[in-house]
Amino acid sequence: MRNLAKQIPVAFSVVALALAASPAAAQVTALRVGRLIDPEAGTAATNQIIIVEDGRFTAVGSNVPIPAGAQVIDLSELTVLPGLVDAHNHLALTYKEEPESNIYYLTYVLESTPLRAIQAASNGMQMLSAGFTIVRDMGNAGDYADTALRIAIEQGWIPGPTIINSGIIIGGMGGQFWPTPEMAMQKNIVYPEYLDADTEDEIIKAVRQNALFGATVIKICVDCKPWGYTTDEIRLFISEAAKAGLKVEGHVQTVDGARRAIEAGIWSIAHDRGLTDENHKLMAEKGIFRAGTETPLTLVGHTTAARYERTVAGLRNAYENNVPLTFSTDADYYIPGMTRGEVAIEFIETWKAAGIPAAHILRAMTTNGYRVSETQDTRGPIRPGFAADLIAVRGNPLEDIDTLRDVQFVMKDGMVFKRNGVMTPGEFFHGGPVNGWNIR
Ligand SMILES: [Zn+2]
Repeated sequence: MRNLAKQIPVAFSVVALALAASPAAAQVTALRVGRLIDPEAGTAATNQIIIVEDGRFTAVGSNVPIPAGAQVIDLSELTVLPGLVDAHNHLALTYKEEPESNIYYLTYVLESTPLRAIQAASNGMQMLSAGFTIVRDMGNAGDYADTALRIAIEQGWIPGPTIINSGIIIGGMGGQFWPTPEMAMQKNIVYPEYLDADTEDEIIKAVRQNALFGATVIKICVDCKPWGYTTDEIRLFISEAAKAGLKVEGHVQTVDGARRAIEAGIWSIAHDRGLTDENHKLMAEKGIFRAGTETPLTLVGHTTAARYERTVAGLRNAYENNVPLTFSTDADYYIPGMTRGEVAIEFIETWKAAGIPAAHILRAMTTNGYRVSETQDTRGPIRPGFAADLIAVRGNPLEDIDTLRDVQFVMKDGMVFKRNGVMTPGEFFHGGPVNGWNIR
């Protein structure tokens, strides 16, 4: 039985390869580009041709010939740039004024994992429409709605950003909650929103559980409780996650927690509350990514004037200390009249307020995003061999970052998701897993 089970995937993948080589999949697309941005270099080139074949870039340059029979897309009036990255979002969580008064404890009680998975699919498309081609989904997704979303997109059922997902957030008992005994002991209300791990054995088991159920990054609560995790415990998370090829992000809310996470050599730190000048200097030294989740004042009710002032000063300090900055939103709520993508892009307000030049903001939203997502060698840059993801806007984001608020065109994996400012996702929907079923 065991041997037979192993042989079946091999037989099916031969069929999948045969399908991938079919003429329909080999459609060549040529894009005529007015201006092409390289965010890494902070430069723009004019009148470029980009060739896309089988979901990948095959050529980029000014003298690239357009192959006969290619579908030509005219973006000569637009500026093309690589897709954006939100390094910290929660697509499967949307708390609201009605009915839960923005208290997310209640969302967990009121909404099932399947419902939240469908919300995540919608939020993912809203993010893609706003130009985010990669989203790190950092937990609070019920019973692995985030894995379901990632797989649905990768298999080819629905359009969406490339998802880097954390599975269930691991913390000491209770996670970010102060649960009732019924919740904590019987685990019949909010479980599994957090995965309890208080001992070394539990830490190992929790990491393995998330890896088993499809997490592609590990998220831990470093200091959600006064006792938190020690530096050695964080090191154990990191070494155990590394066995599965995964990095560790820490939710950090205290200065001491941040110091322990930095000492342990964590991959990325979420939220800015514990990030002092001293901690920033250590992060820069060790190359630890900052996902500060800097909520702008314009998202009324989600920060305060005093808190915002500290957030802006902290972001400025991180920039001056050369900390690897990522663009991150922690978006997990509904603001009537705004899509999830519009909520996310609104965060550029905080970056502008911190006095960070547009070219550096753009780097945080692209280059550093690919690095923290570990896609920098496969997806992100517009280069031959890379996955064909790109977006286009009207102005020049190197000069005016606000041009990113009005994304006119989105290509994901070589398929057009948005054209002339309107979502055109038909190509993405399939009645089966066209990219292969054997993706977990
Ligand atoms: Zn978060």
